[in-house]
Amino acid sequence: MKHIKDKYIDIVKSRVDICQLVVDLCPGTVLKPSGPHRKKCCCVFHQEESPSLMLDTTMNRYKCYGCGKSGDVISFVEECQGVGFIDAIRCLLDMYCPDVDTHDLFDQSSTPEQEERDRKAETMYIYNQYAQEFFRAQYEADTEEAAACRRYAEKSDGSSTGRWDKDFCRTFGLGYSPARGNKFLEYAKKKGLNLQILVEIGLLGEDDSRPGNYYDFYRGRLMIPQRDRYGRVQTFTARSINPQASIKYLNGRDSLIYRKSTSIFGIDIAMKAARQSGKVYLVEGAPDVMRLQSLGIANVIASLGGSWSKEQLGYFSKFSCSLCFIPDCDKPKEGEKYGAGEKFVFANGRLATEMGFQVSVREIPKEGNIKQDADSYITCIERWEGLTEKDFILWYADKHYDTESTNDDQLKVISDVCDLLVNIQSEVLQASLLADLKDKYRKASVW
Ligand SMILES: [Zn+2]
Repeated sequence: MKHIKDKYIDIVKSRVDICQLVVDLCPGTVLKPSGPHRKKCCCVFHQEESPSLMLDTTMNRYKCYGCGKSGDVISFVEECQGVGFIDAIRCLLDMYCPDVDTHDLFDQSSTPEQEERDRKAETMYIYNQYAQEFFRAQYEADTEEAAACRRYAEKSDGSSTGRWDKDFCRTFGLGYSPARGNKFLEYAKKKGLNLQILVEIGLLGEDDSRPGNYYDFYRGRLMIPQRDRYGRVQTFTARSINPQASIKYLNGRDSLIYRKSTSIFGIDIAMKAARQSGKVYLVEGAPDVMRLQSLGIANVIASLGGSWSKEQLGYFSKFSCSLCFIPDCDKPKEGEKYGAGEKFVFANGRLATEMGFQVSVREIPKEGNIKQDADSYITCIERWEGLTEKDFILWYADKHYDTESTNDDQLKVISDVCDLLVNIQSEVLQASLLADLKDKYRKASVW
């Protein structure tokens, strides 16, 4: 099996614009604006008189409301030209990246074990794709529970309950897992899928005491597909739509194609925007990413859990972009000074600074004792624009330097801040931060 090296796929995903691609591949297509970050045109996959092909410029994805086809720039070429994945990448590299040297396009070093794993991974991706289609159909179904799920997800005129606009929900590919029965299991059996693989990717459960007894793992949940950087569905994050449910979010199970500790939610969409804007925003959860994406902010990612690893952050080094954290605004636990969101950013910001990133923080204002996060607070673009952005080191010093505390404690904070400061690679920035710190914490003469 021939493999295109990851870096070429990254190049394509981060450079090619869906609107430009549609116009270039389908001459004569006229794009019309449709809302702040969407364009529409007559579908190029089916015959029609009025436009139903939606192009989302934030997500860099397409979705047709007529024939249902949807995907990213790579799948657009696959569909449109009738070619496979490899040829689609070649075509996009030829069209949009003439400066890129492609002589070593393929990874040659695969062993038989590796090929076996690749084949299995390929099957898993296909199964996730089937699952997504199944959940999509359930979401659109004419049932009371599906309607409840749509009310939870979609904002409609006069409704204050929904979260995202309807087009966003469709283009993103949100789905629903029915509350009762084993409908997904039945679907999988009818399609002849390998049920054990479905257990491995977390879509089915298996009775411990009765092996071979399978059941639907997700029930009564909004199914949010999580895509890898090539736009393939790796797993699902499932949100209960029942306000009384004890577990709000269920994250996917680790498998051959998904590792919770290394995967990044939003990466498929953020890459292109990060490259263009030189910045990426880091939030805590999937809904925070989706909230900002629905407002047209594409360069936003989450680690699902709050902490970021070196591997995850390192992925953005090649885009030479700066990182901006948006912590959840949590109430500190009894007897503690800081909330969980702040503590995450203390650690994550330190790691990112040590890795040489320029780091900043956009803090959600505290309003009384309520917990807020990017999803709940940033409900409109004005609120987003109203957030002030601070350099991480200044923010960190501010949070830790307590004018009431003892001299020794203050010195400890200052030495801590100095440790952070030495990581700053730009001398200009370092000097300006130092000047700010000296000005603010005059008392500490150690500067
Ligand atoms: Zn169509």
